[in-house]
Amino acid sequence: MLDNITWFGHDSFKITGTQTVYTDPYKIKKRDAADIILITHSHFDHLSQEDIAKVSTDKTIIIAPKDCAAKLKGNVKTASPGDKFTVSGIEIEAVPAYNVNKDFHPKSNGWVGYIFAIDARRYYIAGDTDLIPEMRAFKDIYVAMLPVSGVYVMTALEAARAAIDIAPQFAIPMHYGDIVGTVKDAERFIAEIKHLTASGPKIEPVILPAA
Ligand SMILES: [Zn+2]
Repeated sequence: MLDNITWFGHDSFKITGTQTVYTDPYKIKKRDAADIILITHSHFDHLSQEDIAKVSTDKTIIIAPKDCAAKLKGNVKTASPGDKFTVSGIEIEAVPAYNVNKDFHPKSNGWVGYIFAIDARRYYIAGDTDLIPEMRAFKDIYVAMLPVSGVYVMTALEAARAAIDIAPQFAIPMHYGDIVGTVKDAERFIAEIKHLTASGPKIEPVILPAA
């Protein structure tokens, strides 16, 4: 179960199938060859040139919001919320990611999360966001990767409510254990989802060990 997903901490994931996708590579220890790298925004813990280089080849395609493009080398496509692409056979949609009760990630910056399909399964990487109404429109998500630390992003309890809105099969907490947030936030997220789904939709919350 979920053994095609590796978590490197923070928002840094590797998802494999017919293609290999990395999200916000950060503190990567081993060289690798990503087909696609998804960058959610330009903060240093999401856009790390050093870590992007570690998982890039000359064929890798990097997708990132406009303000990131100047900091990136290689095959870069810019993404705004609502944009849809098919890259290397993978359907990718850039979706909004922004704060509603703090100012670190203003909506006007056009920063994003992504919904992407590998082998007919749809994955959602939220980026740095609060619980936002757009999440209710996301359909058929297999795995949702949601920030839980609070401070710069939504809290664990808000993230659990986001999971209910999105209704994925699996919900993975991220954005803790580095910079801000602890495993307690991840555990709170798991417990709250179990509480909220006790007599409702089935969502399986899963804490991944950091690679
Ligand atoms: Zn950020």
